[in-house]
Amino acid sequence: MKNQMEKVVIIGSGAAGLTAAIYAARANLKPLVIEGIQPGGQLTITTDVENYPGYADVVQGPWMMEQMRSQALNVGARIINDVVIHVDFKKDSKTISLDSKSILSANTVIIATGAQAKWLGLESENKFNGKGVSACATCDGFFYRNKEVAVIGGGNTAVEEALYLSNICSKVTLIHRRDELRAEKILQERLFAKENINVIWNNIVSEILGDEKGVNSLEIKDKYSEKTEIIKVEGVFVAIGHSPSTEPFKGVLEMDEEGYIVAQKPGTSITNIEGVFAAGDCVDKIYRQAVTAAGMGCMAALDAEKWMQNQ
Ligand code: NDP
Repeated sequence: MKNQMEKVVIIGSGAAGLTAAIYAARANLKPLVIEGIQPGGQLTITTDVENYPGYADVVQGPWMMEQMRSQALNVGARIINDVVIHVDFKKDSKTISLDSKSILSANTVIIATGAQAKWLGLESENKFNGKGVSACATCDGFFYRNKEVAVIGGGNTAVEEALYLSNICSKVTLIHRRDELRAEKILQERLFAKENINVIWNNIVSEILGDEKGVNSLEIKDKYSEKTEIIKVEGVFVAIGHSPSTEPFKGVLEMDEEGYIVAQKPGTSITNIEGVFAAGDCVDKIYRQAVTAAGMGCMAALDAEKWMQNQ
């Protein structure tokens, strides 16, 4: 089934997608948002949010996304619950095939499909998610003030998270599966200089332990001796990388080696295909915050509006 030509189709309904929808709707572009598999995005799997400007008190991630969704609807955006399977993007015609078998045509497309944190894959990790297990120190670190926490991973993210947490928590243990870090040398130097950060090498997390109050310890296993050890922590920050959700756009849009969409001009949302714009965590592997994603969503709507005016 082929539908009418849309002015703006927004793929994704996290902070970037919904902010793009609010701006595009207010520009009278009647945007159509395709919600995707996880309506509301990553914020719907967090609990307390206290770093999104505009709320004096702590708000809940799912509630905040409901508000953003209602705001987008109230200003005239349309939202459908569907998933993109395939796209065909050219300057003059852009078609989007959906799981429901509908095919959309659009003048402009804003991609805001986000990213997913990679997880260790333990059942206990899932059980304690939001109750001691997190994948974002900037979001959740504050709740572990003066407590002992662990960070898992050896890349830039893990080291940055450990450094960030070392200013809040009494002790940070970085657990890495090898005997050297992948993180940049300058970050490593900062890490080793911190007195309250301890690094455990060649170990993997075999279990996350806790009770109804949340996490209270970790079981780690030495890769070589297979010896296990219990370490007492109240928070576990998994920092083993993120994967952008950009599968349907592979071979269509320019991406880096990790699958992040590449903005053609720094500081814009312009992709390598005219009339296709990208915003939020599917582009950004550095900041990954709700507020930066929202800002990028706003930029994408303004870029799309300007592109249409120039056509
Ligand atoms: P990376 O892929 O760079 O690092 C992931 C780390 O997690 C590696 O040390 C890896 O171990 C470890 N790991 C992966 N899977 C597992 C697992 N199942 N169990 C245990 N450990 C695991 O991801 P990052 O998120 O750190 O960085 C992603 C990208 O973003 C990089 O390009 C990075 O440079 C960039 N970045 C840049 C920043 C900056 O410039 N300030 C800040 C943050 C990120 P191993 O080393 O053994 O493979």
